[in-house]
Amino acid sequence: MSFFRSLRFKIAAIIIAIGIIPFLVCVPISLRVYRVVSINNDSVNLMSQAQKYANQIVTSGYYLKDVDNPVLDKQIQAVGDSYEGRILIIDASTLEIIRDSYNVDIGKTIVWENVIKTIKGEPEPYFDEANQYLIVPAPLTNSDGDTVGVFIITKNMHYISQNIEQFLSYMLISSIIVFSLAFILAVYASVHFTRPMRKMNNNLDSIIREHTRELPEELSYIELENISEKFNEIFSKMQLIDESRQEFVSNVSHELKTPLTSMKVLADSLNGTEDVPIEMYKEFMVDIGEEIDRETKIINDLLNLVRMDKSDSQLNVSAVNINELIEHILKRLKPIADKANIEVVFESFRPVVAEVDEVKFTLVITNLVENAIKYNNENGWVHISLNSDHQFFYIKVEDNGLGIPEDSVDHIFERFYRADKSHSREIGGTGLGLAITKSAIAMHNGEIKVRSKLGEGSTFDVRIPLSYIEKEAH
Ligand code: ADP
Repeated sequence: MSFFRSLRFKIAAIIIAIGIIPFLVCVPISLRVYRVVSINNDSVNLMSQAQKYANQIVTSGYYLKDVDNPVLDKQIQAVGDSYEGRILIIDASTLEIIRDSYNVDIGKTIVWENVIKTIKGEPEPYFDEANQYLIVPAPLTNSDGDTVGVFIITKNMHYISQNIEQFLSYMLISSIIVFSLAFILAVYASVHFTRPMRKMNNNLDSIIREHTRELPEELSYIELENISEKFNEIFSKMQLIDESRQEFVSNVSHELKTPLTSMKVLADSLNGTEDVPIEMYKEFMVDIGEEIDRETKIINDLLNLVRMDKSDSQLNVSAVNINELIEHILKRLKPIADKANIEVVFESFRPVVAEVDEVKFTLVITNLVENAIKYNNENGWVHISLNSDHQFFYIKVEDNGLGIPEDSVDHIFERFYRADKSHSREIGGTGLGLAITKSAIAMHNGEIKVRSKLGEGSTFDVRIPLSYIEKEAH
């Protein structure tokens, strides 16, 4: 049952246990100690008493069968009565009972281990568990040092169990009181200590039901405050993701609609005009074709971006000769550069082989060089350099083209961002190229930086590890 796994139950159980365990542990221990100490004390007392009488008995010859001593008889009787017990005097040689304060066993022979031991000079007290009697023997030793008899004194020890019973009844009452207090305290504490958690739970509920967007900053436990801070961080991150997703969707629809609108306008004007000359048809069809190309380009860029964005998208890493890859890309882009008479120069400081995803990495270089050519002036130049150290390889793409306005530099990696909208559109940009580039570089655990001055040109610096280390999945 989930109640038993709850913190409330655990707090309550701990408090009740703290209240009860001392009783369960201490009571039996103290009772045992009380019993042992009482028996020991009584044994010591009785032994010294017995010793006292033993001397008297030996000197008076009272241990002998035929000696009469009514004074001692009485005295012995009184001593026995005072202990609610019995006194025996045994002859050491015959083991015959000479005197008995109960007067029932006189003349009988007693064969008991402790009597024999006492005769041998090793008297030992004995506690008769069943009848609750303490039996203490003492040797009767004459002046020659011979043991002539054994003096036995027994004491009724019922008082111990009576005391224990009384003690237990007090304990029962106090344990009921302690248990009740512990129970009340446990219920109070379990409710009180878990209140902030229940509150947090309710707050999270209202976030789930979208009534609020963050956990209130309440003073509760430091641990809970830390957790709610982290939760709030997560919520604001989710909010940002949500906003950027919405913005992305509206940008996508806008970008996809623009070429369609143009085509619709072109088609409508052809349809709405009577006797359209064939030249006009051709011209308009060329324009429509261009819009289709643009739409295709946007869709292709979007697909690349989506592929890059997929959280589980895997890099298809292999050892790639970066020099050859760049030369191959430059060859492909040469016709575009030639159109505007732009000089493209590749400078390699050393041969570089690195572990990259060839397809995604091709997108990186192509986008950077393509931009350097697109956003350039006629007769401009583009310099690409490749270098490496023991850990990274570095690619620099530099141009002396249009440059990027200062306030745009921080935004050019955002999706659909175009520094100069009209110019970019004319050039055929979608605003997705650098977003794709940045994602691809991030997937390779690399970095990209840009420096640019409007009207003077731009420099993009890329740094990527030579060997790919997969990020740990969390
Ligand atoms: P686009 O498809 O518009 O080129 P990008 O994401 O590749 O989109 O680039 C975003 C914007 O950054 C471009 O519209 C352009 O204004 C600016 N930009 C990128 N590269 C350069 C460059 N080499 N020189 C000047 N401006 C650049």
